Amino acid sequence: MEYKEIVIGEKKKIALVAHDNKKHDLMEWARYNKVLLANHELYATGTTGALLEDVLGVPITKFQSGPLGGDLEVGASIAEGNIDFVIFFWDPLEPQPHDPDVKALLRIAVVWNIPVACNRASADFMISSSLMSGEYVRLLPDYDEYRQRLSRAKND
Ligand code: PGA
Repeated sequence: MEYKEIVIGEKKKIALVAHDNKKHDLMEWARYNKVLLANHELYATGTTGALLEDVLGVPITKFQSGPLGGDLEVGASIAEGNIDFVIFFWDPLEPQPHDPDVKALLRIAVVWNIPVACNRASADFMISSSLMSGEYVRLLPDYDEYRQRLSRAKND
């Protein structure tokens, strides 16, 4: 498969999402990493975003609350090329009303080769990576071949 190169700039567009039982964890993590996060553009699902604004004191672009479609909005933004990085503290111990949306977000992040941290340890490693402070060339499978295959199949 061919790959395309997408350059992620120094200032990254980071989406943050936490399920209710994980919000405390995310707020502690965000408070600890306040200075690093200030270098980036922040996005979040509704409730997570409101809490983060209090903790960080910076404006955050807020999507809908997760169960109302926020996770899907984050996923759509990834597909549109508007999110570079995801911190998603999802709850492995409790079913969510929007479980299909959670799965969709995690799937689309993999489709577009977006870094995703799903717990504090991964988020610690990722935020402290030297790649955070510079440009990064994200390799993306060239989906043109896939699109052409689909349109050929439809025309047959
Ligand atoms: P919330 O959504 O930030 O609005 O709580 C998070 C989620 O449940 O996906």
